[in-house]
Amino acid sequence: MPNAAKLLTRSLSLSMIRSVLLRALTVFVISNFTSAQSPDPFDGHPNLYHADLTRYFSSSQAENDARRRLAQTTDAYLQTAPWIEDGTAARLDEGARLITDWMRHRVYCRAQASRDITDKPAKTCANEANDRYSVLLSFVDAQLQSKAMQGLSSTDIDHFGLDRYRYLIEQARETAAHGLSPQSQHIADLLTDPVLEGLTDRYDATERNLTAEPLETKDGKLDPIKDASKLAHSSDRAARKAGWEAKQQAYSVHGELFAATLIDIAREETALAKLCGFASAPARFYARRLQLTEPQVHSTLDAITQHADVLKDYQRVRAEQVSHVTGIPDVRSWDMDVSSGYDPNPLPYAQAKAAILKALAGLGPDYVAQFTWLLEPKNGALEIASGPNRESGGFSLGYSAVPVMLYMDGFHGSLTETSTVIHEGGHAIHRKLMNEVSPYYVNGPHFLFEAYAILNQLLLWDELERESTTLAEKAYYQERFLDTVSAEVFTSGEEGILEQGIYDGVAAGKINSQAEIDNLNAQILEKYELFASEEPTLRSGWMRKNLLFEDPLYLVNYLYAALVACKLYEMDMAHPADFQKQYLTMLREGFDMPAAELLKKNMGFSLDGNQLLDGALELMRDRTIQLKHTYDLMMKH
Ligand SMILES: [Zn+2]
Repeated sequence: MPNAAKLLTRSLSLSMIRSVLLRALTVFVISNFTSAQSPDPFDGHPNLYHADLTRYFSSSQAENDARRRLAQTTDAYLQTAPWIEDGTAARLDEGARLITDWMRHRVYCRAQASRDITDKPAKTCANEANDRYSVLLSFVDAQLQSKAMQGLSSTDIDHFGLDRYRYLIEQARETAAHGLSPQSQHIADLLTDPVLEGLTDRYDATERNLTAEPLETKDGKLDPIKDASKLAHSSDRAARKAGWEAKQQAYSVHGELFAATLIDIAREETALAKLCGFASAPARFYARRLQLTEPQVHSTLDAITQHADVLKDYQRVRAEQVSHVTGIPDVRSWDMDVSSGYDPNPLPYAQAKAAILKALAGLGPDYVAQFTWLLEPKNGALEIASGPNRESGGFSLGYSAVPVMLYMDGFHGSLTETSTVIHEGGHAIHRKLMNEVSPYYVNGPHFLFEAYAILNQLLLWDELERESTTLAEKAYYQERFLDTVSAEVFTSGEEGILEQGIYDGVAAGKINSQAEIDNLNAQILEKYELFASEEPTLRSGWMRKNLLFEDPLYLVNYLYAALVACKLYEMDMAHPADFQKQYLTMLREGFDMPAAELLKKNMGFSLDGNQLLDGALELMRDRTIQLKHTYDLMMKH
């Protein structure tokens, strides 16, 4: 399972996109096969599935030499300040070249470090490149925040040849509006960084050391923490229930500690937000990550709550099917992973590739050509064959003018892995399409990156459903489609409301204990979850959501990612030819304007308002009816 969440640091490295897959996969019916049981996925040629790193540097020595020279040039660049208006365009151009060069080192070294996590020099190099990249971006930003630059009129911007950097200058103005003086920033960092890091570490350490009494099952002794997945898929209902409850109990023993940690994080973030001139921590994070105001996000969250029955309907259909298949009259959370009765077989790479390319046909021949290039091992962009000491998870690498690659810890043909290829590969292709974009404009709000990758996943479920040969298989992929949409729209919606509620409550002094967080969560779950009233332990489920602790107010990103993905999907289904042209143009453009404007200009829809939500709800309703129909047919046969 991708482990990107753990890797992402608080500083949110701009070139790293957290994988939304992480969540989607938790609702998969996990297949029982392992790599040992599956046939060789690479048809006897695993060595072809390692990336060709000479696309970046001819050798490690060459990389190292180039890096030392680049460090010198960078030092010299950083010493020339402040900038004068007349020379700014040239300084920005030079900064862009340096950033690109550092990213080439980063990609090369990160690839090496991921292939072999014991490769210390590679790790050091990747860290150095990351640091240099951040320093360069901050330096450029600081120069653009100077009085002289802030005073430039639109005519001045044209006059000094800065037109292509107009949005960069605007962004610096916005940062300046909420920025602290360097001295205040330094003090704030000294005071808050260690506290926030300490709180996150405390959560991680507590979670890592959770223990539970082993359970006697007909498959032998199973540990509710380590064997959670095995227990969840056990054919023994009592074992599923005991496993489910024991795992939550293991968290709940530390409930007050988890609550105190989360409340302290909320207090710190609230103070930081106020220091920067925001009304609240949510206002600060929404502005930065979604480019939306707090009332705008509120309105979307309220609207989702009004339609929570759409989620309950889907859950009910699934629960009824479980009841039909198993004979269990009172289905509960721990029974929900049993339904279609289908378990996918591993796909050899060649077959997975063919399915992926067919799935992507809806995005048009240009997109498919790009993906075909990526998936062809001789092009050297795939790093997916297993080996010792590999970093776990999957991600893409690449940058403006730096070739892309797709990394996975291994590929054995599982559905999870095929889905990772189309998701992370989607990120890689997006980067590739932005290859000519200025390095200042290849990063944008994460939710947009994720929206594009989720769209690919939806197309994959559709394709696998089309290729299905039995009703059970068809139902299985219909469930995957619905799980993806419901997890991203509704679960993220619930989480967004919970997190907003916690921050509001903490700021108002109304949330001070575990019971108060549990109560808030219980009110939300009551509206959304089919089993909320029968299963009171569900209300403590927030303790298991590590992003609440590791990346405050991030979860709502998934909601917007899903809403955009559903809208893109709908447009693609309705008018594929128009969609393909507009979509590719948007992907190639990069982020030279705010996300909402980018979507409006290229795709014609806006991010605000409830129109996006209506589309996603309709998709959920339609697909739930289809799934019900498939279940009915299964019953007749
Ligand atoms: Zn992703």
